[in-house]
Amino acid sequence: MKPNIKNIAVLTSGGDAPGMNAGIRAVIRTGIFHGRNMFGVQQGYRGLIENNIIPMNARSVSNILHMGGTILKTARCLEFKTDEGMETAYRNLQANDIDALVVIGGDGTFTGAKRFSEKFEDIKVIGIPGTIDNDLYGSDFTLGYDTAINTVIEAIDKIRDTADSHDRLFFIEVMGRDSGCIALRSGIASGAEAILLPEKFTSVEDLIAKLESGASTKKSSSIVIVAEGHKHGGAYDIAKQVEERFDYYDTKVTILGHLQRGGSPSSFDRILGSRLGYAAVNALINGETRKMVGLRGNEIKLTSLEDALNTHTFKLEDDLLEMAQVLSI
Ligand code: ADP
Repeated sequence: MKPNIKNIAVLTSGGDAPGMNAGIRAVIRTGIFHGRNMFGVQQGYRGLIENNIIPMNARSVSNILHMGGTILKTARCLEFKTDEGMETAYRNLQANDIDALVVIGGDGTFTGAKRFSEKFEDIKVIGIPGTIDNDLYGSDFTLGYDTAINTVIEAIDKIRDTADSHDRLFFIEVMGRDSGCIALRSGIASGAEAILLPEKFTSVEDLIAKLESGASTKKSSSIVIVAEGHKHGGAYDIAKQVEERFDYYDTKVTILGHLQRGGSPSSFDRILGSRLGYAAVNALINGETRKMVGLRGNEIKLTSLEDALNTHTFKLEDDLLEMAQVLSI
Protein backbone atom coordinates (compact mmCIF):
# COMPACT_ATOMS: atom_id res chain seq x y z
CA MET A 1 0.00 0.00 0.00
CA LYS A 2 1.26 3.47 -0.88
CA PRO A 3 2.06 5.61 2.15
CA ASN A 4 -0.17 8.62 2.56
CA ILE A 5 2.44 11.33 2.68
CA LYS A 6 1.13 14.59 4.05
CA ASN A 7 4.00 16.94 4.72
CA ILE A 8 7.18 17.13 2.66
CA ALA A 9 10.40 19.03 3.44
CA VAL A 10 13.26 19.87 1.09
CA LEU A 11 16.88 20.68 1.94
CA THR A 12 20.15 21.38 0.14
CA SER A 13 23.35 20.00 1.63
CA GLY A 14 27.11 19.78 1.03
CA GLY A 15 28.63 21.75 -1.83
CA ASP A 16 26.25 24.23 -3.45
CA ALA A 17 25.60 23.95 -7.17
CA PRO A 18 23.82 26.17 -9.71
CA GLY A 19 20.38 24.74 -10.44
CA MET A 20 19.60 23.80 -6.84
CA ASN A 21 17.07 26.66 -6.72
CA ALA A 22 15.25 25.27 -9.75
CA GLY A 23 15.08 21.96 -7.87
CA ILE A 24 13.72 23.58 -4.70
CA ARG A 25 11.10 25.51 -6.68
CA ALA A 26 9.92 22.39 -8.50
CA VAL A 27 9.71 20.36 -5.28
CA ILE A 28 7.65 23.03 -3.50
CA ARG A 29 5.27 23.67 -6.38
CA THR A 30 4.76 20.01 -7.30
CA GLY A 31 3.96 19.23 -3.66
CA ILE A 32 1.46 22.10 -3.53
CA PHE A 33 -0.10 20.87 -6.78
CA HIS A 34 -0.70 17.51 -5.06
CA GLY A 35 -2.21 19.22 -2.01
CA ARG A 36 0.71 18.54 0.34
CA ASN A 37 2.04 20.92 2.99
CA MET A 38 5.57 21.95 2.05
CA PHE A 39 8.56 22.93 4.19
CA GLY A 40 12.10 24.14 3.59
CA VAL A 41 14.99 23.16 5.88
CA GLN A 42 17.71 25.78 6.12
CA GLN A 43 21.41 24.85 6.05
CA GLY A 44 21.01 21.20 5.18
CA TYR A 45 21.21 18.59 7.92
CA ARG A 46 22.23 21.25 10.44
CA GLY A 47 18.79 22.82 9.97
CA LEU A 48 17.16 19.48 10.75
CA ILE A 49 19.11 19.22 14.00
CA GLU A 50 18.50 22.87 14.96
CA ASN A 51 14.83 22.74 13.92
CA ASN A 52 15.36 25.41 11.31
CA ILE A 53 12.34 24.24 9.34
CA ILE A 54 10.01 26.76 7.70
CA PRO A 55 6.67 26.39 5.91
CA MET A 56 6.90 27.30 2.23
CA ASN A 57 4.31 28.23 -0.37
CA ALA A 58 4.36 28.87 -4.12
CA ARG A 59 5.48 32.48 -3.55
CA SER A 60 8.41 31.42 -1.33
CA VAL A 61 10.11 30.20 -4.51
CA SER A 62 9.21 33.04 -6.90
CA ASN A 63 12.01 34.58 -8.97
CA ILE A 64 14.74 32.12 -8.00
CA LEU A 65 15.23 30.10 -11.21
CA HIS A 66 18.01 32.39 -12.42
CA MET A 67 19.89 32.50 -9.10
CA GLY A 68 23.05 30.50 -8.39
CA GLY A 69 23.66 29.05 -4.92
CA THR A 70 20.70 27.90 -2.86
CA ILE A 71 18.02 30.02 -1.19
CA LEU A 72 17.79 27.41 1.58
CA LYS A 73 21.54 27.72 2.25
CA THR A 74 23.71 24.69 2.67
CA ALA A 75 26.14 23.43 5.27
CA ARG A 76 28.46 20.65 6.24
CA CYS A 77 27.22 19.11 9.48
CA LEU A 78 29.38 16.61 11.35
CA GLU A 79 26.76 16.11 14.07
CA PHE A 80 24.44 14.46 11.57
CA LYS A 81 26.95 11.62 11.28
CA THR A 82 26.31 10.67 14.93
CA ASP A 83 23.36 8.63 16.23
CA GLU A 84 22.42 11.47 18.60
CA GLY A 85 22.42 14.00 15.76
CA MET A 86 20.21 11.80 13.62
CA GLU A 87 17.81 11.19 16.53
CA THR A 88 17.47 14.95 17.16
CA ALA A 89 16.79 15.48 13.45
CA TYR A 90 14.14 12.74 13.54
CA ARG A 91 12.42 14.24 16.60
CA ASN A 92 12.28 17.65 14.88
CA LEU A 93 10.73 16.13 11.76
CA GLN A 94 8.16 14.38 13.94
CA ALA A 95 7.41 17.59 15.85
CA ASN A 96 6.66 19.29 12.52
CA ASP A 97 4.63 16.27 11.38
CA ILE A 98 6.91 15.84 8.36
CA ASP A 99 6.89 12.37 6.84
CA ALA A 100 8.96 12.84 3.69
CA LEU A 101 12.20 14.51 2.76
CA VAL A 102 13.81 15.56 -0.53
CA VAL A 103 17.56 16.03 -0.20
CA ILE A 104 19.54 17.85 -2.87
CA GLY A 105 23.29 17.26 -2.72
CA GLY A 106 26.22 15.04 -3.58
CA ASP A 107 27.63 11.75 -2.35
CA GLY A 108 28.07 12.86 1.28
CA THR A 109 24.48 14.08 1.41
CA PHE A 110 23.23 10.80 -0.05
CA THR A 111 25.30 8.76 2.40
CA GLY A 112 23.60 10.65 5.23
CA ALA A 113 20.18 10.27 3.61
CA LYS A 114 20.64 6.54 3.17
CA ARG A 115 21.70 5.98 6.77
CA PHE A 116 18.91 8.20 8.10
CA SER A 117 16.17 6.49 6.09
CA GLU A 118 17.41 3.04 7.13
CA LYS A 119 17.31 4.10 10.77
CA PHE A 120 13.93 5.84 10.60
CA GLU A 121 11.94 3.99 7.99
CA ASP A 122 8.78 6.04 8.54
CA ILE A 123 10.49 9.06 6.95
CA LYS A 124 10.52 8.58 3.17
CA VAL A 125 13.55 10.05 1.42
CA ILE A 126 14.30 10.88 -2.22
CA GLY A 127 17.60 12.39 -3.40
CA ILE A 128 18.26 14.87 -6.20
CA PRO A 129 21.87 14.80 -7.51
CA GLY A 130 23.18 18.33 -6.98
CA THR A 131 26.94 18.65 -7.41
CA ILE A 132 29.15 20.29 -10.00
CA ASP A 133 31.39 17.18 -9.97
CA ASN A 134 28.97 14.88 -11.84
CA ASP A 135 30.26 11.95 -9.79
CA LEU A 136 27.12 9.97 -9.00
CA TYR A 137 25.98 6.80 -10.71
CA GLY A 138 22.44 6.86 -12.12
CA SER A 139 22.32 10.32 -13.66
CA ASP A 140 24.16 11.26 -16.85
CA PHE A 141 24.29 14.81 -15.50
CA THR A 142 24.11 16.20 -11.99
CA LEU A 143 22.73 19.65 -11.20
CA GLY A 144 25.33 22.37 -11.62
CA TYR A 145 27.76 20.42 -13.79
CA ASP A 146 26.71 22.06 -17.05
CA THR A 147 26.86 25.56 -15.59
CA ALA A 148 30.29 24.88 -14.08
CA ILE A 149 31.64 23.74 -17.46
CA ASN A 150 30.24 26.86 -19.10
CA THR A 151 31.91 29.02 -16.45
CA VAL A 152 35.22 27.23 -16.98
CA ILE A 153 35.20 27.56 -20.76
CA GLU A 154 34.33 31.25 -20.54
CA ALA A 155 37.42 31.72 -18.37
CA ILE A 156 39.62 29.57 -20.63
CA ASP A 157 38.52 31.47 -23.74
CA LYS A 158 39.76 34.66 -22.11
CA ILE A 159 43.02 33.05 -21.06
CA ARG A 160 43.47 31.68 -24.58
CA ASP A 161 43.40 35.25 -25.98
CA THR A 162 46.32 36.34 -23.82
CA ALA A 163 48.14 32.99 -24.18
CA ASP A 164 48.00 33.25 -27.96
CA SER A 165 49.24 36.84 -28.00
CA HIS A 166 52.32 36.00 -25.94
CA ASP A 167 53.10 32.42 -27.06
CA ARG A 168 52.34 31.12 -23.60
CA LEU A 169 51.69 27.78 -21.99
CA PHE A 170 48.94 27.96 -19.37
CA PHE A 171 48.20 25.37 -16.73
CA ILE A 172 44.62 25.86 -15.59
CA GLU A 173 43.43 24.06 -12.49
CA VAL A 174 39.74 23.20 -12.30
CA MET A 175 37.66 21.58 -9.54
CA GLY A 176 37.30 17.81 -9.24
CA ARG A 177 39.26 16.19 -6.45
CA ASP A 178 38.08 12.68 -7.30
CA SER A 179 36.32 13.33 -10.56
CA GLY A 180 37.79 14.57 -13.83
CA CYS A 181 34.40 15.30 -15.39
CA ILE A 182 34.70 19.10 -15.35
CA ALA A 183 38.26 18.92 -16.66
CA LEU A 184 37.38 16.53 -19.46
CA ARG A 185 34.36 18.32 -20.85
CA SER A 186 35.75 21.82 -20.42
CA GLY A 187 38.99 20.64 -22.04
CA ILE A 188 37.11 19.40 -25.11
CA ALA A 189 34.96 22.53 -25.33
CA SER A 190 37.95 24.85 -25.10
CA GLY A 191 40.36 22.86 -27.29
CA ALA A 192 42.88 22.21 -24.52
CA GLU A 193 46.12 20.59 -25.65
CA ALA A 194 46.15 18.23 -22.67
CA ILE A 195 43.74 17.25 -19.89
CA LEU A 196 45.10 15.77 -16.66
CA LEU A 197 42.54 13.77 -14.70
CA PRO A 198 42.52 12.02 -11.32
CA GLU A 199 41.16 8.84 -12.96
CA LYS A 200 43.88 8.54 -15.62
CA PHE A 201 47.56 8.88 -14.89
CA THR A 202 49.51 11.01 -17.38
CA SER A 203 53.26 11.09 -16.88
CA VAL A 204 55.16 14.36 -17.12
CA GLU A 205 57.20 12.77 -19.96
CA ASP A 206 54.05 12.09 -21.99
CA LEU A 207 52.78 15.59 -21.31
CA ILE A 208 56.05 17.14 -22.48
CA ALA A 209 56.04 14.95 -25.62
CA LYS A 210 52.57 16.24 -26.43
CA LEU A 211 53.56 19.87 -25.90
CA GLU A 212 56.72 19.42 -27.97
CA SER A 213 54.69 18.00 -30.81
CA GLY A 214 52.44 21.09 -30.77
CA ALA A 215 55.44 23.40 -30.60
CA SER A 216 57.10 21.64 -33.57
CA THR A 217 54.03 22.41 -35.70
CA LYS A 218 54.10 26.06 -34.59
CA LYS A 219 51.27 26.11 -32.05
CA SER A 220 51.21 29.65 -30.72
CA SER A 221 49.80 28.74 -27.31
CA SER A 222 48.98 25.70 -25.26
CA ILE A 223 46.42 25.11 -22.54
CA VAL A 224 46.74 22.23 -20.10
CA ILE A 225 43.75 21.56 -17.86
CA VAL A 226 44.61 20.03 -14.51
CA ALA A 227 41.87 18.52 -12.34
CA GLU A 228 42.76 19.33 -8.73
CA GLY A 229 43.00 15.63 -7.82
CA HIS A 230 45.76 14.74 -10.29
CA LYS A 231 48.42 12.47 -8.81
CA HIS A 232 51.33 14.77 -9.76
CA GLY A 233 49.85 17.49 -7.56
CA GLY A 234 48.17 20.75 -8.43
CA ALA A 235 48.74 22.96 -11.46
CA TYR A 236 51.69 24.78 -9.81
CA ASP A 237 53.56 21.51 -9.13
CA ILE A 238 53.03 20.17 -12.63
CA ALA A 239 53.91 23.49 -14.28
CA LYS A 240 57.18 23.52 -12.33
CA GLN A 241 58.08 19.99 -13.41
CA VAL A 242 57.34 20.79 -17.05
CA GLU A 243 59.08 24.17 -17.02
CA GLU A 244 62.33 22.59 -15.81
CA ARG A 245 62.50 20.45 -18.96
CA PHE A 246 60.57 22.31 -21.65
CA ASP A 247 61.08 26.01 -22.22
CA TYR A 248 59.53 26.64 -25.63
CA TYR A 249 56.75 28.73 -24.10
CA ASP A 250 56.55 31.24 -21.29
CA THR A 251 54.61 29.31 -18.60
CA LYS A 252 51.76 30.61 -16.44
CA VAL A 253 49.34 29.05 -13.95
CA THR A 254 45.72 29.96 -13.18
CA ILE A 255 43.64 28.32 -10.44
CA LEU A 256 39.96 28.91 -11.21
CA GLY A 257 38.78 28.01 -7.69
CA HIS A 258 35.37 28.81 -6.28
CA LEU A 259 34.13 30.89 -9.18
CA GLN A 260 33.29 27.49 -10.71
CA ARG A 261 30.52 26.98 -8.16
CA GLY A 262 28.65 30.21 -8.71
CA GLY A 263 26.75 32.02 -11.40
CA SER A 264 23.33 31.96 -12.94
CA PRO A 265 22.42 28.38 -13.91
CA SER A 266 22.46 27.44 -17.60
CA SER A 267 19.16 26.61 -19.30
CA PHE A 268 20.18 22.96 -19.05
CA ASP A 269 20.55 23.12 -15.26
CA ARG A 270 17.31 25.08 -14.81
CA ILE A 271 15.40 22.49 -16.81
CA LEU A 272 17.19 19.58 -15.14
CA GLY A 273 16.45 21.00 -11.66
CA SER A 274 12.81 21.46 -12.61
CA ARG A 275 12.50 17.91 -13.98
CA LEU A 276 14.25 16.30 -11.02
CA GLY A 277 12.28 18.29 -8.41
CA TYR A 278 9.01 17.40 -10.09
CA ALA A 279 10.02 13.74 -10.36
CA ALA A 280 11.22 13.59 -6.73
CA VAL A 281 7.82 14.60 -5.31
CA ASN A 282 5.96 12.31 -7.71
CA ALA A 283 8.22 9.45 -6.62
CA LEU A 284 7.44 10.11 -2.93
CA ILE A 285 3.71 10.22 -3.64
CA ASN A 286 4.04 6.91 -5.51
CA GLY A 287 5.49 5.34 -2.37
CA GLU A 288 9.18 5.36 -3.34
CA THR A 289 11.92 5.87 -0.78
CA ARG A 290 15.74 5.68 -0.45
CA LYS A 291 16.13 6.42 -4.15
CA MET A 292 17.67 9.11 -6.32
CA VAL A 293 15.94 10.67 -9.30
CA GLY A 294 18.31 11.07 -12.24
CA LEU A 295 18.50 11.71 -15.94
CA ARG A 296 19.49 8.79 -18.13
CA GLY A 297 19.33 9.12 -21.90
CA ASN A 298 16.95 12.09 -21.52
CA GLU A 299 14.53 10.11 -19.36
CA ILE A 300 14.00 10.49 -15.64
CA LYS A 301 14.91 7.26 -13.87
CA LEU A 302 15.06 6.12 -10.25
CA THR A 303 18.23 4.57 -8.84
CA SER A 304 18.63 3.25 -5.29
CA LEU A 305 20.80 5.50 -3.13
CA GLU A 306 23.02 2.49 -2.59
CA ASP A 307 23.73 2.13 -6.33
CA ALA A 308 24.10 5.89 -6.82
CA LEU A 309 26.84 5.86 -4.18
CA ASN A 310 28.68 2.87 -5.55
CA THR A 311 31.68 4.57 -7.09
CA HIS A 312 32.76 1.35 -8.85
CA THR A 313 29.81 1.71 -11.16
CA PHE A 314 30.69 5.29 -12.07
CA LYS A 315 32.96 5.68 -15.08
CA LEU A 316 34.66 8.57 -16.75
CA GLU A 317 33.68 8.95 -20.41
CA ASP A 318 36.72 7.15 -21.92
CA ASP A 319 35.50 7.66 -25.47
CA LEU A 320 35.49 11.44 -24.93
CA LEU A 321 39.04 11.29 -23.60
CA GLU A 322 40.22 9.37 -26.66
CA MET A 323 38.50 11.88 -28.92
CA ALA A 324 40.04 14.81 -27.05
CA GLN A 325 43.50 13.36 -27.67
CA VAL A 326 42.85 13.03 -31.40
CA LEU A 327 41.38 16.51 -31.76
CA SER A 328 44.08 18.34 -29.83
CA ILE A 329 47.06 17.65 -32.16
P1 ADP B 1 28.30 16.53 -0.71
O1 ADP B 1 26.89 16.13 -0.44
O2 ADP B 1 28.39 17.70 -1.64
O3 ADP B 1 29.15 15.35 -1.12
P2 ADP B 1 29.57 16.46 1.97
O4 ADP B 1 30.44 15.30 1.65
O5 ADP B 1 30.14 17.59 2.72
O6 ADP B 1 28.93 17.11 0.63
O7 ADP B 1 28.30 15.91 2.78
C1 ADP B 1 27.26 16.77 3.16
C2 ADP B 1 26.76 16.38 4.51
O8 ADP B 1 26.20 15.07 4.48
C3 ADP B 1 27.80 16.31 5.62
O9 ADP B 1 28.15 17.56 6.13
C4 ADP B 1 27.07 15.47 6.66
O10 ADP B 1 26.13 16.24 7.37
C5 ADP B 1 26.30 14.48 5.77
N1 ADP B 1 27.04 13.20 5.69
C6 ADP B 1 28.14 12.92 4.97
N2 ADP B 1 28.58 11.66 5.22
C7 ADP B 1 27.74 11.14 6.15
C8 ADP B 1 27.64 9.89 6.84
N3 ADP B 1 28.53 8.90 6.65
N4 ADP B 1 26.62 9.74 7.72
C9 ADP B 1 25.74 10.72 7.94
N5 ADP B 1 25.77 11.91 7.34
C10 ADP B 1 26.75 12.14 6.44
